[in-house]
Amino acid sequence: MGKRTAFDKYLAQLEKAAKVLDLDPRIYARLQVQARLVRGTVRIEMDDGSFKEFPVYRCQHNHARGPTQGGTRFDLAVCESEIKFLAAMMTMKNAIDDIMHGGGKGGIRVDKFALSMGERERLCRGYIRTIAPWIGPRVDGPAPDVGTGAQEMAWFLDEYERIIGGEHCFAAFTGKPVVLGGSLGRSDATALGAVYATEAMMNKLGLKGQQTVAIQGFGNAGDFYAKLMKDRGHTIISVSDRSGTISDPSGFDLYDLHNFCHDESGKKIRKVTEYPRWDRSIDPLRVALSADIFAPAAFEDLIDAHMARELQSKFIVELANGPCTEEADEILAGRGIPVIPDIYASGGGVRVSAAEKIQGLENQKWPANRVHTWLKDQMFKAFDDLKKTKERYQLRSLREAAMVFAVGAVAEAMAWRGGFEYKYGETIDVPTVTVYKDLSSKGPKLVHRKSA
Ligand code: NAD
Repeated sequence: MGKRTAFDKYLAQLEKAAKVLDLDPRIYARLQVQARLVRGTVRIEMDDGSFKEFPVYRCQHNHARGPTQGGTRFDLAVCESEIKFLAAMMTMKNAIDDIMHGGGKGGIRVDKFALSMGERERLCRGYIRTIAPWIGPRVDGPAPDVGTGAQEMAWFLDEYERIIGGEHCFAAFTGKPVVLGGSLGRSDATALGAVYATEAMMNKLGLKGQQTVAIQGFGNAGDFYAKLMKDRGHTIISVSDRSGTISDPSGFDLYDLHNFCHDESGKKIRKVTEYPRWDRSIDPLRVALSADIFAPAAFEDLIDAHMARELQSKFIVELANGPCTEEADEILAGRGIPVIPDIYASGGGVRVSAAEKIQGLENQKWPANRVHTWLKDQMFKAFDDLKKTKERYQLRSLREAAMVFAVGAVAEAMAWRGGFEYKYGETIDVPTVTVYKDLSSKGPKLVHRKSA
């Protein structure tokens, strides 16, 4: 048997939810495939005059609850299975938040750090030329993900507006720079959403006052989460990054730690293990595993069976996508350690993306506190929905409840729509798009958008 792909993991979770919900087989079959996958190759002229090719994808998993929406990953591990998996999970994330969006995801197999700014811009423009006929605010909206950010979204927007004939279309992309219609409150949205999820769980467990917190991964999500939790009076006793774990049972001075690890622009310049002010007489991992709250904010499968057996935390809040192995998940459920699942806990960015899209459609700018209130209301409401779903179906974990709730919401929309014989399983292969160094003289031709 071949290695289980990321998409296989989604199918396993879907199967469990389908059984609990006694799902109509036609709906179940449609949720097992994407609505549409666009594949192609972008060929760019490199700065030295040579040409390089990059495989590109954009997947729209399900449109029943509205236009698909989701990030764009630039990474060497990008493949069709991963993009289909991430798009499917976006369908579920949006459904949990009761956002009227389906799930989408895109990606390019590339080491973006090996490209110059000019090469990166050409790749972004080529990507949009490949997928333009199948995106737009009412069809599918790309956003940032691993390896992309505001700069990529700005190039996407600019290219898209050129292709559609100069019409402004801020709502076509989210995660844009604030001066180009990006939303205030976006940079720390994932972490803030996870903080609200943490508070909702503390309420449920009757936990009051200061808690100790360990954070696995001190990147974008983990660093903001640490700061926000510290601002709320909690004690950060352990952080880790790729170099290892450091701990201090009396709590870190986070501002000092952040400033040590980052330069003035916020770029990470030092490993956490180089930080001189931590207690080297203790076992840092043991301290981390004893924290009241354990927050994985690094990558997949870092909480394995061994760690799941050793953890002493009151609960886990998953900022990272898929941080627990399937085995670890079983062990934690068996030990009664609650896990706030990734598809809910790490959804702050998705929620603020939806707010950005509304601002784009209305040509408005919301103040940051309106964005935060919107996010907070949704996080607490969604937690309540998951709790009720867990009780109603007598499920073992909030992860199962999240999937059952989301699949139920999407299935209900599909049932009302009917039309099961079409709209699913489409794959579109686009001929190679070439982008030359002189962008202006080789601009795109107008494309006529096909209906979704
Ligand atoms: P990032 O690259 O900024 O940070 C990742 C951090 O994990 C780095 O500090 C890295 O050193 C650390 N790390 C890597 N391997 C590790 C290991 N073995 N042990 C401990 N730490 C390790 O990425 P990010 O944007 O913060 O994303 C982190 C996770 O959160 C990912 O799973 C991502 O999909 C998820 N997420 C992020 C966002 C967001 O808005 N940034 C939104 C939703 C989900």
